[in-house]
Amino acid sequence: MPDAKPAFQRILLKLSGEALMGDDAYGINPEVIDRIVGEIKEVSRMGVQIGVVIGGGNIFRGIAPSAVGMDRATADYMGMLATIMNALALGDALRRAGVEARVQSALRVDAVAEPYIRGRALRHLEEGKVVIFAAGTGNPFFTTDTGAALRGREINADLVLKATKVDGVYTADPMKDPTATRYSSLTFDEAIVKNLKVMDATALALCRDQQLRLNVFSIFKPGALKRVILGEDEGTTVVC
Ligand code: UDP
Repeated sequence: MPDAKPAFQRILLKLSGEALMGDDAYGINPEVIDRIVGEIKEVSRMGVQIGVVIGGGNIFRGIAPSAVGMDRATADYMGMLATIMNALALGDALRRAGVEARVQSALRVDAVAEPYIRGRALRHLEEGKVVIFAAGTGNPFFTTDTGAALRGREINADLVLKATKVDGVYTADPMKDPTATRYSSLTFDEAIVKNLKVMDATALALCRDQQLRLNVFSIFKPGALKRVILGEDEGTTVVC
């Protein structure tokens, strides 16, 4: 039987820093990153073009006490630097797995990563390379979720995927409430009004205004990323 056809040709995957630390208190867990790379590789081999925006919570958490009382913008720049470390680790893990990858950073760190250049990112994607976007939007007072919506729009992604630990958006916290049910789909306005923990409001508003389709899924559920790409009922789809 021929392989099933992907429903999306170009995606933007948002991975939080916390996704990289597994059960550790902070940092990058090598087994966890290799597992995530396996999921990305499978989809890349299907011919899907993949941009990744990576968070920094796993590293920033380790240094958070030192940020207490700090000027917010300075702390945010530290957070963005943390995302660069994660991006380098993910790029390295992808390359070790035989997947070509490039890191582009919104903050200049020329010795270790390309600067973010949209045209060059598009070329990498067309060549089948995974492009990892580091340092979020490059501006303090934003999040990497907003960075994901922004880069998703810039690369004309068909779908923005937000990887979480839970397999979608639920009516209540499924860890605490056994009656909670998963939304198969919802609208951005519903997510904003009900304050559902999908993405922060700035990121949601950008997705809504730019009519970017969003899917929230679990990166820890084997094969879930592929199922989303095949257009199956996986995770929660958020639309206009
Ligand atoms: N950050 C920022 N501007 C951005 C993206 C990130 O200032 O455009 C900073 C911010 O301090 C944030 C930190 O980087 O707390 C790490 O990003 P985020 O919290 O989004 O990472 P995640 O929670 O996804 O791991």
